[in-house]
Amino acid sequence: MINILPNQSTMKETFRIDHIPLKLFNTASRQKDTLVPLQERHVHMYTCGPTVYNFAHIGNFRTYVFEDLLRRTIKFFGFQITQVMNLTDVDDKTIRGAIAKNISLDEYTQPYKDAFFEDLKELSIEPVEHYPAATDYIPQMIRMIEILLEKGVAYRGGDGSVYYAISKFPRYGCLSHLHLNELQAGASERVASDEYEKDNVADFVLWKSYEPERDGKIYWESPFGPGRPGWHLECSAMAMHLLGETIDIHVGGVDNMFPHHENEIAQSEACSDKIFSKLWMHAEHLVVDHKKMSKSLGNFYTLRDLLSKGYTGVQVRYLLLQTHYKTQLNFTFQGLDAAKNSLQRLNDFIQRLHEVETQEPGGKIEALGQKALMSFAEALADDLNISVALAVLFDFVREVNGLCDAKQLSREETEQVLELMKRFNAVLGILSFEKQEPMIPLELQEAFEKRLQARQNKNWQLADELRDFIQQRGYVIEDTPHGARLKKA
Ligand SMILES: [Zn+2]
Repeated sequence: MINILPNQSTMKETFRIDHIPLKLFNTASRQKDTLVPLQERHVHMYTCGPTVYNFAHIGNFRTYVFEDLLRRTIKFFGFQITQVMNLTDVDDKTIRGAIAKNISLDEYTQPYKDAFFEDLKELSIEPVEHYPAATDYIPQMIRMIEILLEKGVAYRGGDGSVYYAISKFPRYGCLSHLHLNELQAGASERVASDEYEKDNVADFVLWKSYEPERDGKIYWESPFGPGRPGWHLECSAMAMHLLGETIDIHVGGVDNMFPHHENEIAQSEACSDKIFSKLWMHAEHLVVDHKKMSKSLGNFYTLRDLLSKGYTGVQVRYLLLQTHYKTQLNFTFQGLDAAKNSLQRLNDFIQRLHEVETQEPGGKIEALGQKALMSFAEALADDLNISVALAVLFDFVREVNGLCDAKQLSREETEQVLELMKRFNAVLGILSFEKQEPMIPLELQEAFEKRLQARQNKNWQLADELRDFIQQRGYVIEDTPHGARLKKA
């Protein structure tokens, strides 16, 4: 495996990070563990992805934005990464949806897969290395079930389905730290509406036998008869196939912890006799105005809902990013507006840097930038302490703004500041570095529109008055092949 040198050893950079261990809170050990990949400096990470039966909501994206921050942080500290995010395209919900519309499973899920990738792009979430769809890994899932049957941890139920016997896996509950009797009490509530024939209520399905009424034409052939894989098995099979029997980090929302991740551990470890994942990380819930998000309460938002209200994906990203992942995030529109304003301040700062013309260096940037970079890195290394990292960034911006005011920042130093802002942004993914044309004041834009209208109405006097008004404020009207436009004189 190729060993990528950490960022800090790239010689041409002005600012350097001394070695800092990256510590992450491990749900399994209940403490912050130092990230030490199985393969030197190459992290293998699995993230549970969406079920593609609908548009993902902002609660889902809270988890995906956190996972993106984690991925970028891992790279920031000089690691290489291979990440998998699965797409669950076969389960009760996708099958029900396809049957209701009388179309194939593929036809039903494809638009939601497409929408998901569009949303990731809007949120500046980096593409990961693999996005496997569950339906492409059915043979691997069948193979796992065969192994589990051979080892005696799985059994055939009276209905033809194959189940996992959790009593055969003594470590069951190691992640959620629940005891078997608690698990059974929780499980019996959930299975009340199911008629599965299982030995134990907390056992879970590995292969669901085909039922024409429920499944329509959607099934796969297997040594255990026609049917389809259980949802939990999908992640185990894809993770082990793409990343190996032991992975470095497994991530998901806190609601994935039990039973989904617990079941993944049971299946994978019973198959391989190895530890499935060294580190487990879970993002907390998102609530809206302190209430659980639900369609019936009218407080349910997809990313598309927020974009249609005029917000940008990056503004939403910033909002989702700024609360530490282990803290419940309370979404409000005031919060989103505040995020929008904070982001504007940062982008205004970058635009200001583009305009610096001072020749004499103030000589303060190297020390200031080095201190900011180290504090930023230390905050992230402490289980992604994003509030401290952002505070460091805003302090740095304030101090550099002060140097700009005092004309103590040269053009060359400005380039160093921009280099550092890009390093911060490699983790945050929220800033825009393109130089923008100065905004034309709204009153002038309005006068310009009115003048066009006046000319169409042949009201020459009004048109001339408006032209004078525009010129007095330092702008001219320029004719181009695409029509007239406003330009600074
Ligand atoms: Zn999963």
